[in-house]
Order: sequence, then C-alpha cells, then structure tokens
Amino acid sequence: MNQTTAIVWFRRDLRLADHPALSDALARFDRVVCLYVYCPTDAWPIGGASRWWLHHSLAALAQSLKIIDGELVLLAGNPLAALREVIDASGATAVFWHDLHEPAERARDQDIEQALGDDGIEIVRHNGLLLNLPGSVRTGSDGVYRVFTPFWKALRARLDVPKPLPAPLSVPTTAIDLGVTLEALQLLPRIDWAQGMRETWQPGEAGANLRARQFTTAAIDHYDHDRDLPGVDGVSMLSPHLHFGEISVRTVWHLTLARPDSDGVRIYQTELGWREFAHEILAEYPHTPNAPMNRAFERFPWQPDNEVADLIEAWRHGRTGIPIVDAGMRQLWHTGWMHNRVRMIVASFLVKNIRAHWLHGARWFWDTLVDANLPANTMGWQWSAGSGADAAPYFRIFNPVRQGERFDADGAYVRRWVPEVAGLPDKYVHAPWTVPAALRQQLGFIPGDQYPEPIVDLSDSRKAALAAFSAMKEANA
Ligand code: FAD
Repeated sequence: MNQTTAIVWFRRDLRLADHPALSDALARFDRVVCLYVYCPTDAWPIGGASRWWLHHSLAALAQSLKIIDGELVLLAGNPLAALREVIDASGATAVFWHDLHEPAERARDQDIEQALGDDGIEIVRHNGLLLNLPGSVRTGSDGVYRVFTPFWKALRARLDVPKPLPAPLSVPTTAIDLGVTLEALQLLPRIDWAQGMRETWQPGEAGANLRARQFTTAAIDHYDHDRDLPGVDGVSMLSPHLHFGEISVRTVWHLTLARPDSDGVRIYQTELGWREFAHEILAEYPHTPNAPMNRAFERFPWQPDNEVADLIEAWRHGRTGIPIVDAGMRQLWHTGWMHNRVRMIVASFLVKNIRAHWLHGARWFWDTLVDANLPANTMGWQWSAGSGADAAPYFRIFNPVRQGERFDADGAYVRRWVPEVAGLPDKYVHAPWTVPAALRQQLGFIPGDQYPEPIVDLSDSRKAALAAFSAMKEANA
C-alpha cells in the first residue's frame, strides 16, 4: 500500500506541543517531513542576537523530534524552491503551516500557496501564532482599532481560546537525502559574545515551558505591581519563547486561566492582548516598520544623523551618563533582553532627549534583542516617538531620573548594571552628577571620571524636543 506524505513547514512555531499544523498533518498522513527553511532575506533580516537564539532553538527542536522518530530537515534559501525540492524527494502531496501576519511574509506565503497549488499540492494553513486572527475584530464602522483599550475590550469579550493540543508521541517520517547541518547555517557569532545570553536563557520548548510554569505558579499574582519594577523578578520573560513559538500563546493563556483570578492575572492577560494588537496594527499598516504611522511625523525635525552619531553610539553602549538608561542598554547587550519599563525610558531618551530618528533605536534593538519581533518592536518605537497607534503624546517626555527614582527606588537595578555608581547613596544613584563636591572625595566618585557626565542636559533637551514638536505642528498646519 502506498504511504501518504505531508510536509510541515516550521517557521515561528519551533515546538511540538499545541502545534495544530503538525497534529493535523499527523492525523491525515502516514508520514510527515518536518522542514525549516532559513531565509533571512527581507527588509529586516534577522539580527545577531536572534540568530544565536534560532540556532539553539532549532537544535532543541531537532533533538525533541529525534526522540519521537522524527527528523528536522534544514534548508537555506528560497522557501518555494526548498519546498519543491522536499516535495520531489519525499513524494509529499500536502504542505501544512501556521500563518504569519507580517506584510512581507504574508505576500510571500500567498505566492507560495498559489505556485504549489498550481503544482497540485494541497496547502493547509492553521493559526498557531495568535489568540485571534488579525482583521477579525473591527470597530462599529468596520475599521481597525487604533487604540488598544477598546480593541482589547472587544476582543476579550469574544475570545474563546481552544485548549492546547498535546505533543505527538511519534512523528513517522520519510527519509530523504536532503538538508544541511545546523552549523552550515552559520547562525552563531564568529567571536563569542553570547556568554551573558547563555547564562540568562534556555532556548527551546523545554526552557519555554519551564519559564511559563514558574511564572504562572507564583509571580503572576503580583504582576500588576511588580511588572514596572526592573529590579524585581516580576515579569514572565517569555517574549523570545513566544516570538520563536517555542510555547504557544494558547498554552500561556490557559496557564493563566488555571490561576485564581486576580489583578495580576488580568493585567498579564492584557499584555498578551498587546501582542495581538501589535500584529493587528502591522497587518493593517504595513508601512510602519520604516515610516511613521501618523504621517504628520514625516515632517518632524529629527537631528541630522551626522550631528548625533556620537550620542547614538554612547546610547548603544550604555555610556550616556544617565544610570537608568545605561543600565537598560547594558542589560540589553549582555542578555539580549531589556525590561519593558526600561525599554520605554531608553527609547524616550533616544528620540526625545537626543532627538535621533526612532529608526536608529528600532534597528539597534532589532540586532541586539533575542525577542526582536517586527510588530512589537515597530509598535514600541512608534509609540515612544509619538507617531504610532495609541502613542504617548509627544509632549509627555519621560524624565529618566524621575523614572529611576520611582521604579527603581532602591537603585537595585542600576547598581547591578552600572557598577560605577553602585557605591552611591540611594539619593544620588539615579543622578550621580548631583553628588555634592564635598562628598565626592569621601564617596570616591568624581563625575566624568570613571562614569561619564550626562551626554545631554535633560532640561534643555526636553525644551528642544517640545520646540521641535511645535515646529512639526506648524509645518503641517
Ligand atoms: P511580560 O510583561 O511578561 O508580558 C508577557 C508577554 O506579552 C510578552 O512576552 C510579550 O509577548 C507580550 N507583550 C507585553 N508587552 C507588549 C507590548 N508592549 N507589545 C507587544 N507585546 C507585548 N516586545 C517584543 O516581544 N519584541 C520586541 O522587539 C519589542 N520591542 C520593543 C521596543 C520598545 C521601544 C518597547 C517600548 C517595547 C518593545 N516590546 C517588544 C514590548 C515589551 O517591552 C516586551 O514584550 C516585554 O518587555 C517582554 O518581556 P516579558 O516577556 O517579560 O513581558
């Protein structure tokens, strides 16, 4: 009897549990070829930190598949060509995948569906990425929600999240003489800068589950309070695991439902709603990774790149002289991740105090974050610049010293990442340049000596940002 074969094309769903595409393929076909195609060619090619993560995540997935008789076939290059090669080699008659919603990927997938359909191949698409498909929640006038709260209210009311599917016990496969080794993809850095990331993370499904279960059995109950405190272990740190799909958002959602109701649980669910919102906005406004969502900002007078190049460099490397900003940028460089509150602070500092174009920040985050995710990163930067959906009004400018004093009151966070100021009393730790001259000798701290003085004056730069905003308004009047 002829055996039937299907391909499951893994993309941002590097897991076995709650994988609707894999479960469906296994239910309908005798053999399943699990395929990953490395194709880093688009406007936002995968960054260095994400490549490191991807390497380890693919290794973990390949290992998990091996244990249950499966195999992960790796290819690089054009996905349509790769799929056709595997179809030829395996005799597969169907391809299963989870939909992606980013504009370039959507367009590519449509072309692939059309081309393979013309070849007589069945394409089976599932939702494995989101709680809800973008475009299905509309305003009363059939528009897209541009403000989060009504979006989430409407979505939350209709949300009926299916229970997660179990991981398969076996993945019978067809041996094909195709594929490259993981090492051949050259995802790891040539010079090893990943020590901090190794210490912080366990990429792969097992690491994702461990973190999700740890967070949802305790810290989630205090999330409403702790989520804003970067010095406390109060957030889930699930973002890279969710980005690479090592755990499904449905699984995380059901873990939250299993918890007694509390403000912490509800607010955490709302954060998962922001993830949905970011996908919704990018699907509707595909130009926003590169251009402002609010077109008025096309006339915003950003500082010329050559005039702020040194300031941007200091920002990237955590040498701005503002401890909370430097702590965040160093945490990012070391671990590939930064606390959300601090992301907002460093972004505000770049776009408002330095007044560098937000794309400088978006690109740096893209290269250094292990959770670099186009919908979320775009939304975060456009929000910070004041040009995005539900954006902070431009005239609300974070004062990083006040932010530090409020959200890192005991200075635990800045002391950890900026050891140069660790010995200062709480009173000065967020503004070390204010240490009185009489105390400097005693504290062994000379501003500008071991730690830089602020690279911009916070008050003057705030005024300049407000003036720039007024100029933009006039230019658009
Ligand atoms: P938790 O607080 O535990 O939240 C749980 C999950 O909800 C997160 O893992 C994430 O998937 C989702 N989530 C939470 N907040 C947001 C948000 N504002 N937008 C979208 N999803 C959210 N997040 C990314 O995943 N990738 C990015 O590239 C990214 N870039 C950002 C850039 C800027 C300038 C800013 C201000 C925010 C950015 N964020 C990004 C959003 C947010 O900072 C991170 O999702 C969060 O810090 C991840 O940590 P966590 O998993 O502990 O979050």
